[in-house]
Amino acid sequence: MCAAHQQLAPPDNPTRVVRCYHCQRACAVSLRAMSSSCPHCHRQLAIADIVVRARHWGTSLQTCGRIIVDRRADVRVTLLKACAGVEVHGTVKGRIVSLGPVTLGDTAQIDGDLEAPAVFVAPGAKILGGKFSISPVAPGGRASG
Ligand SMILES: [Zn+2]
Repeated sequence: MCAAHQQLAPPDNPTRVVRCYHCQRACAVSLRAMSSSCPHCHRQLAIADIVVRARHWGTSLQTCGRIIVDRRADVRVTLLKACAGVEVHGTVKGRIVSLGPVTLGDTAQIDGDLEAPAVFVAPGAKILGGKFSISPVAPGGRASG
């Protein structure tokens, strides 16, 4: 893969614009790509949505897409970061940073800081602790095209 040539994609290679979770700038990636590298900061990016269905203990989970935590999942990470949004139906312990809306379903249980432009909490969701920072302007602001 040659990231330097991805900005001028031919018409038969449709692209979409995602936001880099490292530098938070917009970058065009192939619709079919599962991963790419950011043309601005040149770091590796995961693009596909992440669905966690079981136990995931680690340092971080990051994607340009969405992160969906299944109701049986048990996620313990330092940082969970998604650019398109986060949906929680299971347990998350750690810091959640989302550039899209966050949904806490009725079986969700979170313990940690949350940064997002909007959060929807279903009746039954448990929030055990952490500092919430809900602001309509995502961290890093808008990228001018
Ligand atoms: Zn970047």
